[in-house]
Amino acid sequence: MQATVSSIARSEARNDAVLLVDDNRAIVDLLTAKILEESDFRVISADTLAKARVILAQERDEVFCAVLDLNLPDAPDGEVVDHVLDLGIPVLVVTGNLSDRAREQVLAKPVLDYVIKHNASELDYVVRAITRRYHAGTIGVLVVDDAASARGYLRRLLEIQGYRVYEAENGQKALEILDIHPSIRIVVTDYHMPHMNGQELTFAIRKKRGRNDLAVIGLSGEDGKQLSVQLLKAGANDFLAKPFEAEEFICRINQNIDLLEQIQTIRDSANRDYLTRLYNRRYLFEVGKTLLANARRGNIGLSAAVLDLDHFKGINDRYGHDGGDQVLQHVAMVLQQSFREADIVARMGGEEFCVLSPNLQGERAIKVFNRVRARIERQSIHFRGEQIRVTCSIGVCMNWHSDLHEMIRNADQALYRAKVEGRNRVHGC
Ligand code: GH3
Ligand code: MG
Ligand code: MG
Repeated sequence: MQATVSSIARSEARNDAVLLVDDNRAIVDLLTAKILEESDFRVISADTLAKARVILAQERDEVFCAVLDLNLPDAPDGEVVDHVLDLGIPVLVVTGNLSDRAREQVLAKPVLDYVIKHNASELDYVVRAITRRYHAGTIGVLVVDDAASARGYLRRLLEIQGYRVYEAENGQKALEILDIHPSIRIVVTDYHMPHMNGQELTFAIRKKRGRNDLAVIGLSGEDGKQLSVQLLKAGANDFLAKPFEAEEFICRINQNIDLLEQIQTIRDSANRDYLTRLYNRRYLFEVGKTLLANARRGNIGLSAAVLDLDHFKGINDRYGHDGGDQVLQHVAMVLQQSFREADIVARMGGEEFCVLSPNLQGERAIKVFNRVRARIERQSIHFRGEQIRVTCSIGVCMNWHSDLHEMIRNADQALYRAKVEGRNRVHGC
């Protein structure tokens, strides 16, 4: 019940509209149809800058991305782009044609990308780009370079795309950061660095995470060719020879993200939660039944715990939805690290998680979950220069029953008591 209410509250709060501004009626109709067909986004459209201004004055908070025509009857020179960027809305430029000079002018602005209208395949590109932008805030990119200026430059390019950017000045730091931020899906690494070069770093990364889970993009210097081969052989997914165009860099990043997402979707679509990549509720019940049956057969016991973050609504209110999302990802990571392969860690919905642990019961289960609770309380989450702290309440059904649903119901009741008694505690039953 609670999960349903949370998810409704969430979709109401979320900005899920795309603003389309184009005076070409046919394009607007085609693109609107395409977006509605392929996503859950809403579309708001206008054919002049004046109308776009009126819409934005009322509905700014609903819009997460804008697709803008450079030439409008009342804004012939891309003025609409500046207006929308000034409001802090990411912009994708769509135009009939683009001279070299115009292209440079567009790329000098912090826009996501530009698309030249030729045919229907460009519409797919637009839908892909806005979908990517919508999820970009949940995707981490780690930039590894010993030169602060190079890191800063790449950070700026990546932040325009909405990615969550992390920096490391050497390989050792990079490996440490990777360990604590599971949302990182791409590592961009320079080749020449003191202590550990890009190839050595790539080798080390591959011991932790596979190429279908995390992409490594190597940057090689003027001595280009040979180094790029070494990087690829060490397990890099891609490389760029310096100097490269900003546009090419972003294309490579986005392509690698799209590829990882596609692989992930195929692998996980049915079983995992998008944000935390934990198992979802459906999968929990599916494998949970087998887990319970095996535990009974082997007489090894099984505990079921339900964990709910305390006053999470307050975290969303204070740090915004992105901050809340990051807290959820962090907690998911702590849970994943705290349990064994044989255990099932799932996100039930909202800020509620469930853990099934075979061979864990009685007071020992309470102890284990208390340690997890303390770990979550102790670790703060870095978010836009601030430290977010969070606590959780946990209900544990310490002994197995014949039915998984019953165990989780019992754990839920114990959780309720933990909440009533003051939160940040574990209750068993
Ligand atoms: P309590 O201590 O009683 O559990 O209070 P609470 O604020 O944690 O509980 P409540 O159920 O009132 O609020 C949960 C909030 O979680 C409301 C909902 O908007 C938010 N939420 C649900 N799913 C997500 C999500 O995926 N991301 C973010 N950022 N927030 C979410
Ligand atoms: Mg809660
Ligand atoms: Mg809740």
